Amino acid sequence: MIYNLLKGTDIKVSKVCFGALSISPLQSDMTRRQAVDLLAFAFDHGVNFIDTAEIYDNYDIISEFLDTCRPANAVITTKCYAYNAEMAEKSLTKALKALKRDYIDIFMLHEQESIYTLRGHAEAIEYFMKAKAKGYIRAFGISTHTVDAVRSASLMNEIDVIHPIINMDGVGILGGGRDDMIRAIKRAGQEFGKGIYAMKALGGGHLITQPQKAIDFVNSINEVSSIAIGMQSEDEVTADIDMVLGNDVPGDVKSRLNKQPRRIDIEKWCDLCGACVDRCIQNALSIEGDSVKVDMTRCNLCSYCVGVCPHFYIKVV
Ligand code: SF4
Ligand code: SF4
Repeated sequence: MIYNLLKGTDIKVSKVCFGALSISPLQSDMTRRQAVDLLAFAFDHGVNFIDTAEIYDNYDIISEFLDTCRPANAVITTKCYAYNAEMAEKSLTKALKALKRDYIDIFMLHEQESIYTLRGHAEAIEYFMKAKAKGYIRAFGISTHTVDAVRSASLMNEIDVIHPIINMDGVGILGGGRDDMIRAIKRAGQEFGKGIYAMKALGGGHLITQPQKAIDFVNSINEVSSIAIGMQSEDEVTADIDMVLGNDVPGDVKSRLNKQPRRIDIEKWCDLCGACVDRCIQNALSIEGDSVKVDMTRCNLCSYCVGVCPHFYIKVV
């Protein structure tokens, strides 16, 4: 595995980051033991970087993994939506306690949208700067789907690391297109020295039929130190590591993955805007009660609905 120094920090991360939403109860029905074993498998194969969030509700899994396997060089990112000092303290305390760590490697504000949302989180940012000075976090950052937030965060001394969405089709990028995001990422890394690790290289499943091409695209952006990928099986871990490192994926792994049944997942916190329902020409989606239902007798897993969800709540896997 290649370990890159995440700019803006003294933290070294593997080129593959384990996107831990995939092993959270929100997205997976695997047992805690299975999830812990999968993390252990990934670390045995060179991964040292886990990306999670308070909302993913999986600190218990990561904590058990850290307790059981005691990896020497684990790097953990987590994120929260705190906008004032009280909320920030609550989120950091919760993460430290639940993960049984003296510090969090990278603490982030989740889903920042613009300079205005960043300003609206000023009190939380101030709190995190104090926490960083006391050693409770090693680096501070934001995750975002918008070009503007990458540009704005680049200008802020408080922010060490940016976790932006980027993929070859520009799926889910807001406030600009793919090339705007690439320019913003390059500037953040080159001019402002921010550490960058990417999300949604596979477009939330939209690009799952051409994974190597999709990963090569994100890998070709020099400023991206690591790529967060959600993984749910040892075969996925093996294939994703090989693809990111440019190795051939073993034939048996490829063949099992090709046979794996695909499905569509819609996050439970969907706000029922209806954009995906309108987009689906198969009429496979409908809003029923407080959720979007998928009629699998109509859905052909084309992924077209994925790109219209403003919040990236739909995944075809
Ligand atoms: S994957 Fe395609 S067919 Fe299925 S719900 Fe989405 S748009 Fe409709
Ligand atoms: S587009 Fe996204 S937020 Fe809107 S209804 Fe569909 S899943 Fe929910």
